Amino acid sequence: MSLDIEALPWTHELVDALPGDPREDLAPRQVRGALYSRVQPTPVSAPRLLALVPEVADLVGLAHAPTPALVEVLSGNRVLPAMRPYAACYGGHQFGAWAGQLGDGRALTLGEVRGADGAPWELQLKGAGPTPYSRRADGRAVLRSSLRELVCSEAMHHLGVPTTRALSLVTTGDGVVRDLLYDGHPEVEPGAIVCRVAPSFVRFGNFELPASRGEHALLEQLTRWVLTRHYPHLVDGPRLDVPGFLAEVCRRTALMVNHWMRVGFVHGVMNTDNMSILGLTIDYGPYGWLEPFDPSWTPNTTDAQTRRYRFGQQPRVALWNLTMLAQALVPLVDDPASLEAALDAYADTLGPAQLEMALGKLGLVPDAARADDDAALATSLYTLLGEVPIDMTLYYRRLAELPLSPLPAPAACMEALSEAYYAPEVVPAAHVEHVHAWLSRYAARAADAQLAEAERHARMSRTNPLYVPRNALVHTVIEQAAAGDVAPLTRLLEVLRRPYEPRPGLEAYAAKLPAWAEHKNATTSATS
Ligand code: AMP
Ligand code: MG
Repeated sequence: MSLDIEALPWTHELVDALPGDPREDLAPRQVRGALYSRVQPTPVSAPRLLALVPEVADLVGLAHAPTPALVEVLSGNRVLPAMRPYAACYGGHQFGAWAGQLGDGRALTLGEVRGADGAPWELQLKGAGPTPYSRRADGRAVLRSSLRELVCSEAMHHLGVPTTRALSLVTTGDGVVRDLLYDGHPEVEPGAIVCRVAPSFVRFGNFELPASRGEHALLEQLTRWVLTRHYPHLVDGPRLDVPGFLAEVCRRTALMVNHWMRVGFVHGVMNTDNMSILGLTIDYGPYGWLEPFDPSWTPNTTDAQTRRYRFGQQPRVALWNLTMLAQALVPLVDDPASLEAALDAYADTLGPAQLEMALGKLGLVPDAARADDDAALATSLYTLLGEVPIDMTLYYRRLAELPLSPLPAPAACMEALSEAYYAPEVVPAAHVEHVHAWLSRYAARAADAQLAEAERHARMSRTNPLYVPRNALVHTVIEQAAAGDVAPLTRLLEVLRRPYEPRPGLEAYAAKLPAWAEHKNATTSATS
């Protein structure tokens, strides 16, 4: 059954259960002894609905009809009587340093709805105006960044990556000033609001802030709330299994990051305030998709110096972030060593998952007897991919189609893989040799496992996507949406719904980076 927005059974369970800020004004401030502040969205002048994602509407039981009331609510122009909007109070480590209180500076949760299966969903507007956590910023978001968040979070879901979802995109009719390249040239961009949906938006930083302030009772209340709601098996009357909780977050985070590595996603700002307590990909800012395979690549221009959040570093950063969460949980346990032990769940999950993923991308299944050889086979492919500019996504798709038995001669192999090369005409002879030597090892491994070609192909086609939201694709859709044409956005969302299944006529959606986009990438993904 689907209902209009006004008829949805809105609840405000978090606000009812947990202590909030007694003040309700929007003045920037330090908020102590509270986990959130009640806020109201700031109205916008001319809201227009650009996208409503039907499957996310279905999750929360919302009718698809774009009624005036729906647009009013999703733009923040109307708060329904059953809603209790709030901005969460959290802190975080940014680029490795403790940043103190951050909080929802431009996000606010409107309310919660229980889905058909009884599961909770929070609906959160991003860009609906200032909150007590906005510091000196405007609480707004631009069309560019809101559209990028909508497209990428939906793409991730369909790729099988745990993520927050996006229900809608509304342009506000108001301009928002942004200095795109932080070079002193501010420009007015169209404003837009995305409505995000997740079981919870609680971050590592929600735990870190009360812990840093010695607010242990508050920390305990938050933990009890999160566990009761999302990890009920870890609550036994008054007893909370805090190490069990940390281990569970470690496992979920390991699996999430491993999926990022599988599909070539680079988050770009893995600060602890951008890490979900449910192991969901959250806060799509200057993210990017790996096109030429380069583990040192980051889309975040503000991180260009140290490249802390580069593609290849993501698994290590996730563990560092989990260690910060563990420290925040120390006041809740008798023996801190129990948290140290719980952190092992990260490596214990990631190790096997990494190997399974790397082999899955080759259509192979892990085999304990061959673990060392398999790890070496996977690692040497990564080395190969870094030798010359190669598109990671296209490489695995072409590899799936290359016959292994018998393996063609080197020139024919290169011909079959050439689409993935950015400069196929200038591939050095040494690289061709390395590729063929590696393919021979791969073919031998597949033969040894008696892996049928059809089965290998099917497994690879399930593991390696063909359509991902490449930066240039999204950039073009943003320009068209800004000019008033939303058809390309609708079409892109449609393509990304079935990312593993090649379809005729969609070649442009799988094409590698056009030369013009190399410098555009920075401008699309910078300041949000
Ligand atoms: P982010 O790097 O996007 O995760 O943001 C870090 C912090 O800055 C969070 O507390 C955000 O809420 C806040 N923030 C980012 N952009 C804005 C904005 N335009 N207005 C208010 N707060 C913002
Ligand atoms: Mg954030």
